[in-house]
Amino acid sequence: MFDIVTCGELLAEFVAESTGQPFDRTGTYQGPFPSGAPAIFASQAALMGTKVAYAGRVGRDGFGDIIINRLRTNGIDIEAVERDEEYPTGTAFVSYQADGDRNFVFNITHSAAGRFELDFLQAERLSDCRYFHVMGSSLTSDKAIEIMLGMAKRVKEKGGKISFDPNIRSELMALDATREAILTLVNLCDIFLPSEADIAWLAQGTAETERDTIARLMQHNAMELLVMKRAAKGCQAYSGETDLLVMSREVAEVDPTGAGDCFGGALIAALACGETLEDALTLANAAGAHAVTHLGPMEGCAPRKILEAMIETNKGAL
Ligand code: ATP
Ligand code: MG
Repeated sequence: MFDIVTCGELLAEFVAESTGQPFDRTGTYQGPFPSGAPAIFASQAALMGTKVAYAGRVGRDGFGDIIINRLRTNGIDIEAVERDEEYPTGTAFVSYQADGDRNFVFNITHSAAGRFELDFLQAERLSDCRYFHVMGSSLTSDKAIEIMLGMAKRVKEKGGKISFDPNIRSELMALDATREAILTLVNLCDIFLPSEADIAWLAQGTAETERDTIARLMQHNAMELLVMKRAAKGCQAYSGETDLLVMSREVAEVDPTGAGDCFGGALIAALACGETLEDALTLANAAGAHAVTHLGPMEGCAPRKILEAMIETNKGAL
């Protein structure tokens, strides 16, 4: 039985070296970094000491090697990570604007990541888990949606819980089916991990306040816990009568990409380890804060010991 299982896009990521560097001009990029939102989540969860498995697909190339090596080094079960013999590993390029907004160029559909398959035996093996995590950024094709929803239903039937981070990227929202699948997972999940921007998207163009949207989502869906990621401000958890705001710490932000994924990985792992909600949120904040101090999406994943040391040193400051 795995503690946590996740699957989806495995990507090599390249980060534009200067702020405001546009994609239509020649510039310098750092990379390849191992990436893909579910992979970042999985690595952070594994570094918390939980038993994690991953399913996905890379190409038979160096980008695939760097990703597989990282997942293996972090102790993740990669039996269901396949090599595509024809298509190269998927890629993502990211560039930051002066106001902190990001632009991405993804190649998922026409890459090994876009040809991800999960056979019956692996689906059976991986659905024996306590938590199955889905990223909205993985729901970019009919096939990927079928795999993710199929796994989510199978895990639920076996008594596991579903956690879902919509992780909405405008560059990946072209298909009606993607938007529909995000709403289906909002309905299906037990633990929902949106960012402030995701909640704004879920207001679906109505005049709802953030508070209204959260209340509606919690009232009409099965979710038992909703945790809002509020970037530098920390996070806010809603569950039954609980409304718990946990502040993050001040850090020097180098690269914000991956913070939400590390936050989620640490949170679900801490819950799987039996931590109280408040302690799990504190560890998750520390993981998100640690993530933004490193360049590269999963370079800032941190072992539990480092997060605990961060929390300890911050105690006097609070
Ligand atoms: P992404 O999708 O880019 O990975 P996100 O939008 O899903 O990120 P954020 O709210 O940006 O998620 O970050 C997740 C968590 O990381 C926050 O809730 C907070 O705990 C921590 N965090 C993020 N940025 C900072 C920061 N600048 N300082 C301290 N903590 C931060
Ligand atoms: Mg996110």
